[in-house]
Amino acid sequence: MSIEKVLAKFNPKGCSYEQKVAHGGKPLLSVEDQIAAVGITWKRSPVGFVLLFAEVLNDKTVRYDLNYAALIELQLVLNNWRGSYGEYVSGAIAKAAVDEALTLNGQICGECNGAGVLKDKKRNSRPCQACDEGRVKWDKDSRYARFCHYLPTKRERYESFYPYHESILKWLRGEREAALLAIQARMKAEYEEAEKAVS
Ligand SMILES: [Zn+2]
Repeated sequence: MSIEKVLAKFNPKGCSYEQKVAHGGKPLLSVEDQIAAVGITWKRSPVGFVLLFAEVLNDKTVRYDLNYAALIELQLVLNNWRGSYGEYVSGAIAKAAVDEALTLNGQICGECNGAGVLKDKKRNSRPCQACDEGRVKWDKDSRYARFCHYLPTKRERYESFYPYHESILKWLRGEREAALLAIQARMKAEYEEAEKAVS
């Protein structure tokens, strides 16, 4: 069984990371209870699960929660910042980082729309020159471009934000990985139980 199928069992509409963060009390996550019921520990990585939901189930409703979670985490690292910066900088870093965390294999190519091939003038299919199999991999340039999509700034200015951008990306990837491992461990255990039952 694939991760997609496991995740499809749950209804992520009920999850709200914001309430958990903002009020510190018992999170209002019905999805948390659903996950606990099949023996997966949500608490290990709530953001990671929300990321997987948004990514695998293409669920846009949790997008706001992810941005918010990234922002909270970012504000912790930005405490080290000595100079002044505009009030929307942290929001732009958070959104750009979440965009990347949701498309770790790269952004969908704008030329071939993810197909990886283009038709030439004779209507023959040719590999798209703008991407690798439909995806444009993330690098420092595309991160800068993504940041500017939310908050236009000079390249040299962005350079000073870049360590924070990287830091939040690393955090998001770690959370996602932890959630994936939790699901995989549970799937393995289920598989082994099923094997035992058969033998
Ligand atoms: Zn392409």
